[in-house]
Amino acid sequence: MTDKIEQFLTYSQPSTPCLVVDLDRVSENYQSMAAMTAWDEIFYAVKANPASAVIETLAAFGASFDAASPAEIATCVAAGIAPTRISYGNTIKKSVDIAFAVGHGIDLFAFDSSGELDKLEAQAPGARVICRIAVSNEGARWPLTRKFGCDPAEVVALLRRAVAAGLRPVGLSFHTGSQQTESSRWCQAIAQCGQLFAQSDAAGIPLELLNLGGGFPVAYGDGYVPALDDVAAEIDRAIGDAFGGRRPRIIIEPGRTIVADAGLILSEVVLVTQRAYNRMERWVYLDVGRYGGLAECEGEAIRYRMTASGHVGPDGPVVVAGPTCDSHDVMYEKSMCALPIALSVGDLVTLHDTGAYTSSYASVGFNGFAPLEEYFI
Ligand SMILES: *Cc1c(COP(=O)(O)O)cnc(C)c1O
Repeated sequence: MTDKIEQFLTYSQPSTPCLVVDLDRVSENYQSMAAMTAWDEIFYAVKANPASAVIETLAAFGASFDAASPAEIATCVAAGIAPTRISYGNTIKKSVDIAFAVGHGIDLFAFDSSGELDKLEAQAPGARVICRIAVSNEGARWPLTRKFGCDPAEVVALLRRAVAAGLRPVGLSFHTGSQQTESSRWCQAIAQCGQLFAQSDAAGIPLELLNLGGGFPVAYGDGYVPALDDVAAEIDRAIGDAFGGRRPRIIIEPGRTIVADAGLILSEVVLVTQRAYNRMERWVYLDVGRYGGLAECEGEAIRYRMTASGHVGPDGPVVVAGPTCDSHDVMYEKSMCALPIALSVGDLVTLHDTGAYTSSYASVGFNGFAPLEEYFI
């Protein structure tokens, strides 16, 4: 928790559940990644936290933005961001949405299939396009495999098809999966791209841009993650090995590492009880759950650190669940959490490092529970 958030909670005492984001930390996170020399430009992945306050903060520091839908594009445009600093990185777009982007002057699109090239040919003539390849997502807590990326063996044929369609293929992209804990995954993908750049060169389609995606890990506190400096250093070496002196322009699209540790969710305990099937386990029900923003608890993939204020006694194991009448609204059960034995109804529980992939995942009102209240300070 940052000092600024602590002061805000003390003086404002917001009602729960709520997300509080420290915008100074957002800009610090951006600046420290921007200072790393392994890459040339950062496109913030808007979906991680699409709030205007976040977008405007990053824009002031010169960030670019990767958007995935007309609404995300509109948020960026409303923040005064030039279209040259916005990419449309979703490889699955409706024709009308491509037209919307073109109408706003956007000229950089991702694709991973010939069906998408057909739409780009019709709606975005002459646009710059980046081909996304499928790479290993092993080691990622929140994998993005299967759904995205073409087979690397198809790349040259797709680039030729793009040229024939009057588009301008400028580079390749990949995503190693979100919360990727193994830096070797970027290095392997970069080596693959080195070969594909050479093949594409030989086919008369020289490429100039390599997009390493996002996936950089946040230290949630539930196991080892490499430091960002070390990941960047390994990536830098891998780029040197793969491209030698002919280094392409390198861009990254971090989301999680820019906003996660800038935010926390404050929640209240609604009930502490045992359940009939097992009298030993303590169940703690919070006023926030998987439909209120904690979607990444699916499969217990992301394990947020939790603390309860005001208790000095020992911790004991608990199952943690949300407030709705849905049995999937359980955050942690297979692997239990530790919260104070003395925890009781009305106590406040803080979920740390929850600035990414929370508020925008909250349902519009499942079971009548309102979307997560947000404060940007
Ligand atoms: C979600 C996404 C990102 C951001 O990933 P993080 O793991 O949050 O860094 C970047 N690029 C694309 C294409 C994405 O879909």
